[in-house]
Amino acid sequence: MEHTHVEVSHLQRPPYSSEDSNYPIAQPLYTGACFCGAVVFTVSRQAPLDARFCHCTTCQTLHAAPFQWAAIFEKTDVRFVQGTAELVYWSSRKKSGEYSLPCKVSCRRCRTPLMDEGRRMLMLFPSLIKLGTAERREKFYPSCHMFYGQRVVDVKDGKPKFSGRKGESKLLPETSESSMGTTER
Ligand SMILES: [Zn+2]
Ligand SMILES: [Zn+2]
Repeated sequence: MEHTHVEVSHLQRPPYSSEDSNYPIAQPLYTGACFCGAVVFTVSRQAPLDARFCHCTTCQTLHAAPFQWAAIFEKTDVRFVQGTAELVYWSSRKKSGEYSLPCKVSCRRCRTPLMDEGRRMLMLFPSLIKLGTAERREKFYPSCHMFYGQRVVDVKDGKPKFSGRKGESKLLPETSESSMGTTER
């Protein structure tokens, strides 16, 4: 093997792992997996740095769901411990399946979305983690709702509802009762 032009694969950097990866392994606190079980990951931080529900139409489409639930972590907080060879990528920006940050990461077999990997942080989907207790679920509960102006369903949980990005857009009322009877969303 030549050592002059060796490209370091992203699989050797957090949150991926391979035989060559040499970043320290923290004590796992949570375990998550895709639907078919081919891909397994662990989380070593007690609680996400933040968590959000995103109601934007892009998340609605890419997740085929009314809204997305995402938890923000440092890349070193998360580690894929099984199935990195089964991962497939999607760059919404480039509209391509190449690994190019930021990108969405899914299981090749069952197509479960696993995370959105950004350049610095990642957004993990807590639905895949066995949270078990109410106390653990509370740690992953979102601090706010984003892109609530694009929602298909009202959520009455008392959390702030931003029309767009968190802290960068106006706050909206929780329900649209004031505009009931109109076709406005
Ligand atoms: Zn799978
Ligand atoms: Zn979104």
